[in-house]
Amino acid sequence: MIEPIVQQVPVNDVLHRFMLERAGVRGVLVRLGESWREISSRADYPDQLRDLLGQSMAASALLTGNIKFEGSLSLEFRSDGPLRLMFAECTDKGRLRGIARWEGDLPTPLDLKDLPAAMMAITIGHPERGRYQGVVDLDAGSVADAIEGYFERSEQLPARILLAADGDQAVGLMLQPIPGEGGHSAAEDDADAWDRVRALTATLESSEMLGTHPEELLYRLYHEETVRLYEPREVAFGCTCSRERVGTMLRSLGRQEIESTLDQREGEIEVVCEFCAARYVFDRVDAEVLLSADPSENPGTLQ
Ligand SMILES: [Zn+2]
Repeated sequence: MIEPIVQQVPVNDVLHRFMLERAGVRGVLVRLGESWREISSRADYPDQLRDLLGQSMAASALLTGNIKFEGSLSLEFRSDGPLRLMFAECTDKGRLRGIARWEGDLPTPLDLKDLPAAMMAITIGHPERGRYQGVVDLDAGSVADAIEGYFERSEQLPARILLAADGDQAVGLMLQPIPGEGGHSAAEDDADAWDRVRALTATLESSEMLGTHPEELLYRLYHEETVRLYEPREVAFGCTCSRERVGTMLRSLGRQEIESTLDQREGEIEVVCEFCAARYVFDRVDAEVLLSADPSENPGTLQ
């Protein structure tokens, strides 16, 4: 007996890449479960911020789906309003981490375009080769609209992005026309294909995204299209912090700052990672080793 694929692939913490062949559209669908609960449990987030962070986590994973890169891809929002910072990162190995910081009461709903001096940055970083960063002022209300706007401004290909999150799951769907010769869509015989696929997707509600098995969701939306599914990739919570990185950060503070902190803290500097709660302790001997090391031996800082 042949088992349907639906039962073999885990429902959560999986990234699916697919292609709507006739329409010439490629897509990514990601559904985070345990990885998202791990991230959201790190702070007592108000619901509206938790959902926005969940959407950002799903989006960071989606953005890794259609590009080849090494290192990490991050999505970052900052403002001078009550939402100070929201950061979501996914590595090329599918390791996710994220955090948000806020001050005072957050409005409900939390609309990004109401935040003063709001900006969004998308960064692709490699530990040795430096990074590429695109920064835009935010004029969109939602995380999905902000990323769509970013694609419109900085890339030639449009993208349609849908995101949904609650306390349990974070789900994202991204569609892009496949580039053909000369920048046209690959489906040149089907000029309306992109509009047709967008229209099929427009009916999708957050509750349906959160409550439907990924493959069933694709079938429901695109059963009239030819859907080709690629091998799914697992994603999981994971942090990229290390003692070496913390050491590099400490060294950048300078000798005076490090020595005065050691004096105040009974000879120990403790650094706790905000993403994963890992503890790194440096005593006077460790600090002396750090400060006397030749920075050129450790190209830990990005250009
Ligand atoms: Zn960490």
